[in-house]
Amino acid sequence: MSAEPTGKPKLNVILLAPRGFCAGVVRAIDAVEEALRIYGAPVYVRHEIVHNKYVVETLKAKGAVFVEELDEIPDTGQPVIFSAHGVPKSIPREAERRAIFAIDATCPLVTKVHREAEIHHKRGRLVLLVGHAGHPEVVGTIGQLPAGSIILVQTVADIETLEVADPGNLAYVTQTTLSIDDTRSMVEALTRRFPQIVGPHKQDICYATTNRQDAVKQVAPTVDALLVVGSSNSSNSQRLKEVAERSGCRLARLVLRAEDVEWDLFSNISTLAITAGASAPEVLVEEIMDAFAERFDLHVEEVSTANEGVFFPLPRELRREIA
Ligand code: SF4
Repeated sequence: MSAEPTGKPKLNVILLAPRGFCAGVVRAIDAVEEALRIYGAPVYVRHEIVHNKYVVETLKAKGAVFVEELDEIPDTGQPVIFSAHGVPKSIPREAERRAIFAIDATCPLVTKVHREAEIHHKRGRLVLLVGHAGHPEVVGTIGQLPAGSIILVQTVADIETLEVADPGNLAYVTQTTLSIDDTRSMVEALTRRFPQIVGPHKQDICYATTNRQDAVKQVAPTVDALLVVGSSNSSNSQRLKEVAERSGCRLARLVLRAEDVEWDLFSNISTLAITAGASAPEVLVEEIMDAFAERFDLHVEEVSTANEGVFFPLPRELRREIA
């Protein structure tokens, strides 16, 4: 029996895998939900727990209260959770001074970068941080060391013009959610300019960022368009869109919800790839797929380029409570 013609244009959709939530994001969201279950509302969260408005609104509806700084929190016995991006050392110190119970949901892969920076500092090295100014992860990493002990470099030009007192005593660390290719160029520039610089064995870019970028790189040149589901303030989502464009995809867009899709742009395509940033929930991928299914006759195929079995246990403050 042949299928009934739908009258809609045909569209081949390639769902990329891995996509969406990484282990650090799952852990951070679980931490807020567990804290709400154990301590009741309100549970304060410093900064967006992960960079996704849908996730934040969902947690708000359950009783989470989002603040940018601790001084927005009244004196309270209720906990505050630090976001997956990590915080400067001054923040837990301030929470302790005010006797606020703090739960640290910093992703363990960000904490690893903090520890690397600290070790370099203890060994007397000036630390160069490859990253984007203003991103909370960068603010948190800079805040691990005393002022002047860590310098942010954002571009190859920054490296070419950098003047340091002791070029033989340098180290570098990187933000976890950068473009792999850009970071490779930055590290090459660092080692060219400062041959004795010490760095991680591999870049600090995390497995989730790497796998999502690899999948996009592989498929983007073969499709008419690529959609990244994610927030515009999500670094790894932004990088996915850039990677698609650089890989030769002529139409790449980053969208949070189905209502953000610019439908005119997609009217003449026959193949579309969809991925999602590490902080974007699968329910939003499904919402966007449903919106495409209303307009197109979809043929959906999943292309998987890596297996992820990474799991991080809850922050220890919660594990202790649960035990
Ligand atoms: Fe951790 Fe990477 Fe996820 Fe950031 S994107 S929370 S570093 S696993």
